[in-house]
Amino acid sequence: QRHRIDPATIEYTSEKQKNAVQALIDEFTVSADLLKAIKDNFIKGMNKGLERDGETLAMIPSHVMGRLDGTESGSYLALDIGGTNLRVVSVHLSGHGPPVTYQTKYPIEERLKTGDAKALFDYMADKVGSFLDEQKIKVSPGTQIELGFTFSFPVLQTSINRGKLIKWTKGFSASGMVGKDPVAYLQDAFTRRHIPVRVAALVNDTVGTLLAHAYEHPDTAMGVILGTGCNGAYIERINKIKKWKDAKEDVAADEMIINMEFGAFDKERAILPLTMFDNKLDRKSVNPNSQILEKMIAGMYLGEITRNVLLNLVDRRLLFQGQISADLNQMWTFETAYMSAIEADASPTLHATRKILESTLNFQSTDKVDRQIVKLVVELVGRRAARLSAAAIAGVLEHTEGWKKKASIGIDGSLFEYYPSFDTDIMDGLVEVFGETVRTNISIGLAQDGSGVGAALCALLAAKHANGPLT
Ligand code: BGC
Ligand code: MG
Repeated sequence: QRHRIDPATIEYTSEKQKNAVQALIDEFTVSADLLKAIKDNFIKGMNKGLERDGETLAMIPSHVMGRLDGTESGSYLALDIGGTNLRVVSVHLSGHGPPVTYQTKYPIEERLKTGDAKALFDYMADKVGSFLDEQKIKVSPGTQIELGFTFSFPVLQTSINRGKLIKWTKGFSASGMVGKDPVAYLQDAFTRRHIPVRVAALVNDTVGTLLAHAYEHPDTAMGVILGTGCNGAYIERINKIKKWKDAKEDVAADEMIINMEFGAFDKERAILPLTMFDNKLDRKSVNPNSQILEKMIAGMYLGEITRNVLLNLVDRRLLFQGQISADLNQMWTFETAYMSAIEADASPTLHATRKILESTLNFQSTDKVDRQIVKLVVELVGRRAARLSAAAIAGVLEHTEGWKKKASIGIDGSLFEYYPSFDTDIMDGLVEVFGETVRTNISIGLAQDGSGVGAALCALLAAKHANGPLT
């Protein structure tokens, strides 16, 4: 249900204010033509990344081959890091029906994200250890539990459970990790603690999401994360992965899941409609000039972009009569969760918007026109994110010709789950590219807990793989 502001109904206080709002509309609107141009450029980036390592779109072979059909069974552990919390999950696959999971979430303090990598991995191992105790999971002597490790950062994988961290994203910067193998760090921490767990698979959350969605929807062609960060994975024909084909002679399977790392798209700044508000955010981030698309789409950043726009209007005395609250003056205080609530605000007086501004962000009072403008800005930033996501998804669907047949796309992440009309905005973008058939062919669904279940499925596939080639 959309409850969007019609700019023509805003009771502007001045012509200057009206013009400023119109300028923002122009700047933040991704036209159908621009969406298609971004999609075309994205496809070029995909092809480059499939050809060689080190390109802007990393296009990382996941080493996951073979598909799932929902009959797989077994019990596995999953460890998931890369979103807001650390999660440990035990996953039970019965071979029919949805997986049964038990999970515990643990916070990750700032000092762990930005401190020494060893401390971060020791913390993860400790939490797995306490989870085994809490859940009373018994391990018979001499055996180990298999764990799928969802590590949602760009990792150049050298095998199903080996890889090298390319760079940190999403505010992490723990020292000494870039170029190193996260599995080795984790396994070492388990070993030192005598925790009987073997890291069987290293999985990106997008790959996990694809696998988890495929367990219930076997026609799944793509897994996408729209959460703290953003990214996508899809199934590629091995003969199109030139860099992989060149390295390996005999490959048992004919397709493989590719982790695109699409948040890094357009490092060259050739096509994305970056505004001064995006550039300001990028400059002040811990990873300037990196993850350019992610910073326009992902939940970690949308609130901050919105805040930058609002501050600019305030500084020009075109909003809140030039007054700001001390809270909104601080970086990162405008949470993306507020945006979801403001988007959904359907009351004529914009009551929910008022509550966030006055109760949460401590504005003494707000005028209706101010609330209307705040809501409009939120909508512009949110819809731009959805349409840029659509451009990336459309790139994959065109490259694989996936839009021509029935297929499912599993999407996980707080942004997709809670942001109103993100899904319909994405579908509208796809229709602009492919026409109405895409609406009946492609079904976009929430892949809840993709990363936990997916990591377990990946551990299972790894075990299957160790016992002979997949079919
Ligand atoms: C990471 C990806 C991940 C995405 C979603 C990005 O910052 O680079 O590996 O899939 O966030 O969590
Ligand atoms: Mg996650």
